[in-house]
Amino acid sequence: MLIGIDLGTTNSLAACFRNGNAELIPNRLGKKLTPSVISVDDDGKILVGETAREYGYLHPDRTAKVFKRTMGTDREYDLAGMKFSSEELSGFVLRSLKEDAEVYLGEPVEEAIISVPAYFNDKQRKATKRAGELAGLTVSRIINEPTASAIAYGVGEEGAMERCMVFDLGGGTFDVTILEYFKNIMEVYAIAGDNFLGGEDFTQVLVEMYLGRLLVANINMLDLRTLSNIYKAAEDCKCSFSQGNVSHMGVNIFGQYHEEEFTIEEYAEACEPLLEKLRKPIEKALRDAKVTLDDLDRIILVGGATKLSIVREYVQKVTGIYPEWYVDPDTSVAVGAALQCAMKERDKRIEEVILTDVCPFTLGTEVVRDIGAFEEPGHYLPIIERNTVIPVSRRQTVYTAHDNQKYVTVKVLQGESYMAKNNLLLGELTVEVPVGPKGQEAIEITYTYDVNSLLEVEVKVLSTGLQKKAIIQSEENKMSEEEARQRFERLQYLKQNPRDDEENKLVIYRASRMYEETYGADKTKISDMLAQLDEAMANKSRLEIEIVREKLTDLLDSIEQKDFQGLLS
Ligand code: AMP
Repeated sequence: MLIGIDLGTTNSLAACFRNGNAELIPNRLGKKLTPSVISVDDDGKILVGETAREYGYLHPDRTAKVFKRTMGTDREYDLAGMKFSSEELSGFVLRSLKEDAEVYLGEPVEEAIISVPAYFNDKQRKATKRAGELAGLTVSRIINEPTASAIAYGVGEEGAMERCMVFDLGGGTFDVTILEYFKNIMEVYAIAGDNFLGGEDFTQVLVEMYLGRLLVANINMLDLRTLSNIYKAAEDCKCSFSQGNVSHMGVNIFGQYHEEEFTIEEYAEACEPLLEKLRKPIEKALRDAKVTLDDLDRIILVGGATKLSIVREYVQKVTGIYPEWYVDPDTSVAVGAALQCAMKERDKRIEEVILTDVCPFTLGTEVVRDIGAFEEPGHYLPIIERNTVIPVSRRQTVYTAHDNQKYVTVKVLQGESYMAKNNLLLGELTVEVPVGPKGQEAIEITYTYDVNSLLEVEVKVLSTGLQKKAIIQSEENKMSEEEARQRFERLQYLKQNPRDDEENKLVIYRASRMYEETYGADKTKISDMLAQLDEAMANKSRLEIEIVREKLTDLLDSIEQKDFQGLLS
């Protein structure tokens, strides 16, 4: 079975296409969103999703989140002495989604289409593909998130030509995509974005506002637990702006509860620099697509952070267009990925959309440039230009730069700078050339960028016919088959928390956190119920466990509800 997966910065979810419809796949807790959070618990077991997030409030040092931001980099996360890369952590999330989908669908799930931000570079895309492999999935396609959303919104279904802007502000990334849809052909015209801007930054603003009110000059004075509580409170405070123009934020600091009130106006003012950062990618995408705002038929909002009214209002102010958000911004990418699955399997009920995507960055190589009297090395020669429609294959011929040169090394670079060293080195290919005077040997370089945004490079020495080909993989990520197998085995060896224990664990972690946050009678009630649950678990009576767990959940819900209403009033 093939499923579509939205591997998000904050949350992930899976969807499939069944009986003529895209269907969201609930996780083991019956919820559609699985937080992209991983923890290693006291027994060395891997926790994923909501359970990991709850555990993380109490054990931030054993928990990793927002790791999508470091996909394709060397960053390692140390969780209880075990080191993981972002792709391994993402692999755990994917493994959990795969298992949940298998239980829900009642059949093995071996293949997936995974979405990535349109602005993800080659390294990040490959890391995503490998994360899928670590989870035991064949990633048959990588799809750009905005393209998936546009499919979910049914852009162009009316048959008329439509040009739309997809404004995607997720937890940690921001993308603007301009695409056109006409008679089942979807063409992406331009992509622009910022890989380091998202909802988390809007949470950070509240953290700073709160600490400012408390006159906490040095954030290092606070321990990790307190900081993690402040972030949680800031996140809740941010989300509750959807329900009113005033929001509260309260945290226990050094044994004392500090509550602060914020108005939406104050918050909007503090977010001004962040909102301003949204403008540039909008302008760049329009410029690259060679369209004006008047040419746009629709603006579609995607990503959890577009639920913020200040973001919606800003988009409307800057563009003068009323943006749409009627498809749940949390799920539109997964729905689009599931529709893409149907297209891939050529489900008759879904008209095949011919997708024309673009390469979001320039790909080129380093050359020596002849500047009259002297030669200057280190210049960048673009081969495939940014926003070229893919799949694409482009060829350039270069010549030997020195007399008696024995080898030519083709550096595969990605980026927009005219100086080669400022661009990202994706890999290198070296070929032997017959010695001779400079400029004698011609070398043909072909870059092929496919629909999965994977780059194939071919280098050919024209005089000898010698040819070298490679799917470019960055040096630091280059894995031998043996290494890949070992990594896979290491992750298999680590046990994920068993599914049937998930609900118990979640409620215990949640109760432990709330025990620390509450006072008086509530505290006593929580500890009594926790003791009852402990006893039921020791007795291994399933029915008893379920009854106590439900009672405890109701108790926690009612305490939280009471607190929440208190905060809003
Ligand atoms: P995504 O990566 O698309 O799942 O988006 C996650 C981001 O959306 C996080 O930063 C969340 O805090 C944010 N978010 C989710 N719901 C809301 C809401 N109701 N109001 C404001 N931000 C939200």
